[in-house]
Amino acid sequence: MAYPTPLATLRSRASRLGSRFGPAAAVLLYHRIVPKRGDDPLNLEVSAEEFEEHLRVLAFGYRVVPLRQLAEELRRGVIVDRNTIAISFDDGYLDNLNVAAPILQRFDTPATFFIATRYVEEDAGEFFWMRAASAPGAETVQEQLKTQRPAEQDLSGLPETSSDPLARPMRRAELRALAQDPRFDLGAHTHSHTQLAALTAAEISDELRSSRKVIESLTQQPCPLLAYPFGGPADMGPYARRAAKRVGFRAAFTAERYLIRWRTDPWFIPRFTVPSCDGVQFAEWLSRLGVAPQARYAGATFA
Ligand SMILES: [Zn+2]
Repeated sequence: MAYPTPLATLRSRASRLGSRFGPAAAVLLYHRIVPKRGDDPLNLEVSAEEFEEHLRVLAFGYRVVPLRQLAEELRRGVIVDRNTIAISFDDGYLDNLNVAAPILQRFDTPATFFIATRYVEEDAGEFFWMRAASAPGAETVQEQLKTQRPAEQDLSGLPETSSDPLARPMRRAELRALAQDPRFDLGAHTHSHTQLAALTAAEISDELRSSRKVIESLTQQPCPLLAYPFGGPADMGPYARRAAKRVGFRAAFTAERYLIRWRTDPWFIPRFTVPSCDGVQFAEWLSRLGVAPQARYAGATFA
């Protein structure tokens, strides 16, 4: 599927062309923070130890701001600092509350958690992609499931629960507990986490509206931020941007790997998925992306 609109294409290209010039910021995207990494066929895991090292690097050399602040700075045309970082998590795994949150709190670091809200109910089961991950031919199963509406999804034959108790979705009470910390925000990640390119404009609006409503009922606060499911260029489709705007969000995020520039489209803000790596590798990775620390991180010296 081609890029959503000609304007979005131009802005995206301009953003890429400008990537070597001027100030830049980056949004980091994590999925799961786990006590110990397992097989991880979907590449979602960073270990708690690694995550702690990442936050130590960020605390030492970077300006870490809440994602909503970065989005507002971008919307207002404020030129973001070269060393600005915001942290986000997608989907809403239980380890975000049990493992990631205490580490973030220890480092006094803000983060936004994008939640697929169909899964907040006690009886909603596990995320469909986690159930598919261990099935034979997992990749094909995943590709089929991601474009199907929930009613069309045939999950029979897939395992009900994962062997990892922290892989399940956070439910309402857990999300409320997470959102109680003023450092943490909840964002919308649609309701059912279906690829938006596979849905009609009306279905997309429903997905976004339901998701936003559930988040606002949980937090009793406005929910200004949206992350598109899957977030690759083929995943958003031609209607996502317009729907995000119309439903009343302030900004929306992809998973495309670019830096943020003053001309970045606030409806397609890119994010870098963080790999599993130690602190020194993480600092090098950030430098390669083009976000510069205020001071050089020298690993264990500052531990
Ligand atoms: Zn997701």
